[in-house]
Amino acid sequence: GDHPGEFETDVQKPKITFADVGGMESVKEQIRMKIIHPLKNAELFKAYGKKIGGGVLLYGPPGCGKTHIARATAGEVKANFISIGLHEILSMWIGQSENNLHDLFEQARRNAPSVLFIDEVDAVAANRSDMRQSAGRQLINQFLSELDGVDYSNEGVLVLAATNAPWHLDPAFRRPGRFDQIVFVPPPDLEARTSILQLMLAEKPSEDIDFAKLAKKTDGLTGADLKSIVDVAVEDTLDEAMKTGNIVPLRTKALLKAASKTKASSKDW
Ligand code: ATP
Repeated sequence: GDHPGEFETDVQKPKITFADVGGMESVKEQIRMKIIHPLKNAELFKAYGKKIGGGVLLYGPPGCGKTHIARATAGEVKANFISIGLHEILSMWIGQSENNLHDLFEQARRNAPSVLFIDEVDAVAANRSDMRQSAGRQLINQFLSELDGVDYSNEGVLVLAATNAPWHLDPAFRRPGRFDQIVFVPPPDLEARTSILQLMLAEKPSEDIDFAKLAKKTDGLTGADLKSIVDVAVEDTLDEAMKTGNIVPLRTKALLKAASKTKASSKDW
């Protein structure tokens, strides 16, 4: 960078792929069409004059797997993964937020092929309505020009952004070549809950799990809720196992008990 205090964040190399994401078939398909196929077949797309570029905006209630699918997208194409909440780059110093944002995109470009995941992307909009109106506008403009890749090539950089409130986002973000694809990430349905639970228990000792029953009893719960149910059931089962020092398999009963204590977190979204 050409300024002091260059903004840096962690670069990961995720091992999970779409196979580790339960349900979300339509979300996976849209991500494949929009960013995975173009990345893997860049020459073909060019030959047919099909434009490559633009990002995907994921929206939906918290805990339903936006971060998880973004990480899996990186794993799917063996790309680096850079993840940030937009709030983290906001700075009280004039101009510093823009610099931070630029550094973030530069980091993604340096590490291409990469997936850049920007969570809470609506923070740019929130920022605009406060006292620093013009500062907010400057940040939006910086963001748009980073996305457009005018001064720097975004080749091999896949941008995924997430928000719980897409309607707060400036319409300029949704123009072609920017976040021109908006994908709803819904709470998991019965089938999705079944496969999420199966994935979460796949590598743990278990016995005769009644997944159909569990999926039915977890109506309205998110992926994050299901994770906490499995965590609680594991703790209870581990307590039991420690008494004898032998492995006790996870059972439907322990999971149902944990489920009965968990309230739906996305209910009032
Ligand atoms: P937030 O909006 O709060 O950031 P989110 O939508 O990004 O939430 P995640 O953090 O991706 O949600 O999901 C929380 C956890 O739930 C993940 O770490 C993952 O373990 C699990 N999870 C969520 N959805 C799925 C899924 N479809 N398949 C497997 N695991 C999932």
